[in-house]
Amino acid sequence: MHVSGTLVELDGDEMTRVMWQLVKEKLLLPYLDMKIEYFNLGLKNRDKTNDSVTRLAAEAIQKYGLGVKCATITPNKDRIKEYNLSKEWPSPNGTLRAILDGTIFRSPILVRNVPPGVKTWKKPIHIGRHAYGDVYKNQEIRVQGPGKGELVYTPKDGGPSTRQTIHEFKGPGILQGIHNTDDSILNFAKACFTYALDQKVDLWFSDKDTISKTYDSRFVQIFKEEYEKNWKTSFEKSGIIYFFTLIDDAVARIMRTEGGILWALKNYDGDVMSDMLGSAYGSLAMMTSVLVSPTGQFEYEAAHGTVQKHYYKHLNGERTSTNPMALIFAWSGALKKRGEFDKTPEVINFANKLETAAIETVESGVMTGDLLKVAVPSPNNKMVYTEEFIDAIATALKRKVDQD
Ligand code: NAP
Ligand code: MG
Repeated sequence: MHVSGTLVELDGDEMTRVMWQLVKEKLLLPYLDMKIEYFNLGLKNRDKTNDSVTRLAAEAIQKYGLGVKCATITPNKDRIKEYNLSKEWPSPNGTLRAILDGTIFRSPILVRNVPPGVKTWKKPIHIGRHAYGDVYKNQEIRVQGPGKGELVYTPKDGGPSTRQTIHEFKGPGILQGIHNTDDSILNFAKACFTYALDQKVDLWFSDKDTISKTYDSRFVQIFKEEYEKNWKTSFEKSGIIYFFTLIDDAVARIMRTEGGILWALKNYDGDVMSDMLGSAYGSLAMMTSVLVSPTGQFEYEAAHGTVQKHYYKHLNGERTSTNPMALIFAWSGALKKRGEFDKTPEVINFANKLETAAIETVESGVMTGDLLKVAVPSPNNKMVYTEEFIDAIATALKRKVDQD
């Protein structure tokens, strides 16, 4: 089958790089003739190219509108030694996000025999996490003794400064300064509206505007204005709704919902809630992740890392039972989007078959070790090694394709 548009492929590191190759070889290349712009984001190559490969990959995604990314190492001191790096290169995801100006959306992959921790959840709950600012770009001071903590803003054009007392300290304590920008919040809002419309799901946004009457209220106001101005009509046409509710209320409601919603959250809330959701749905390998830019470019990836510990076993010649589901869904997500862009329903159809084959394999009881721990016990359950699992999906996929 010919895929007419170009896919930007970002290869990665360690165990995910090993699985990436297997997924391509066994599940994609036997069926698809793809035009691929390939970028090797493996750590060695990022080092060799002074990380320009990451920037070039981001520019290619901007050009073609669509990328699919393997997990990559974000180097730390240990990795500098391990890979003999010239520098502690920044997180590739951070670089891509900064260039594409994106928001990250995460969704669980649902299978019948791994029930969510919350009984009422029938459909996926998607999370849209604002990935800029707040406590992640904070400044903090450890206050040593009595004194005044202040918030000061000095305009660049020389106008008068604004100054507010945060606290008159009578003894030791702590101080923190955080910020966000209207531009970034607006881009976040646009990405959420784009994603909700694309997935045809309701959009909830929640924060704590009753307490944070300027900061959190600014988010609420920007979402509201953007909705009224650019999205209300298309949401109404699609039968989906947007609403804001206080974060406490949202958390309480989420426990009673059926799912089938996009929950937009500020940076910290999104960080915490996506981990809660991941674990409630069973495994990090059962979460999809996509970066959506406000101008409608998409980068599909897995929500987990390079599964380092499994890779070291693999290097030792041991077989691992690592779960490739999130990588498979990164490819199927990208293929579906490609098919949508190119108006080629046969490509979308193939991607759906691939997803169904993967889900049905797990539902038949054939699964990797991470899932066996959380699956409903059954005599059919059988833990398989990574490659056996991909082979089982390949067999199921072939059957589906042959049926046509
Ligand atoms: P990780 O790769 O997500 O793995 C953490 C643990 O989660 C694994 O040891 C494994 O648990 C389990 N796990 C994750 N994915 C799995 C899968 N597909 N199948 C089975 N089990 C899975 O996180 P990490 O080991 O902390 O980080 C390794 C590297 O990944 C780091 O260098 C980090 O920079 C990078 N990273 C990259 C991304 C990204 O590119 N998106 C995201 C996060 C981290 P058990 O060992 O108990 O089996
Ligand atoms: Mg987290």
